[in-house]
Amino acid sequence: MIGSKASIINAIPDTWKYLKNVIIVKVKHSGDKTTVYARPLARLIEQLQRLPGVGPKSAQRLALHILKRPEAEVEALAQALIEAKKQIGLCSVCFHLSAEPVCEICRNANRDNNTICVVADPRDVIALEKTREYKGKYHVLGGVISPIDGIGPEQLNILALQRRVNQQKPQEVILAISPSIEGETTTLYIGQLLKPFTKVTRIAFGLPVGGDLEYADEVTLARALEGRRELD
Ligand SMILES: [Zn+2]
Repeated sequence: MIGSKASIINAIPDTWKYLKNVIIVKVKHSGDKTTVYARPLARLIEQLQRLPGVGPKSAQRLALHILKRPEAEVEALAQALIEAKKQIGLCSVCFHLSAEPVCEICRNANRDNNTICVVADPRDVIALEKTREYKGKYHVLGGVISPIDGIGPEQLNILALQRRVNQQKPQEVILAISPSIEGETTTLYIGQLLKPFTKVTRIAFGLPVGGDLEYADEVTLARALEGRRELD
């Protein structure tokens, strides 16, 4: 697009105005100040801002902190990001995060093969592991049933769970899914599916309704696990 400076600026969406090597980013805080960053710094802030829970202010603070650190430290951070992304995949048995084809929990012979705890997300495995109360195995669904988001049972690792239950024949399947509307739907669906083959329990609601499993403190989560009951 060729034109006067003003018309070019007006043609570009309000938030992102590129001017040679400088980008002007409108940072939304008190007074809607306009701050000028050198382009590579703007790019770093933009990337950091994509992370969950990181707003424009935190992104700027993190970016400026990174710039202050020694180069070797920043390289180690970048390397760790790339290696984690490249090396971590999903366990072929339980779908938890793993650097090996089968994760450490599934490989651990000291853990009880007779109990499978079903969770929505790898974060829930980590939260439950921190309680040190549970000695069985896990199965990560990779989400919850949510028709509004186009997520049905076939988008989740439910068929694999069904197969696993048929082969492994566990004595108990514990459903540890956050009690949101979608979580409840998922719990009831899996309960109906597995009840003919094994005992199905669900963890008790010591957990805040609508809350995420990963944010529950360890004691609450441990109690909820203790107080599980058989699905009606
Ligand atoms: Zn596993």
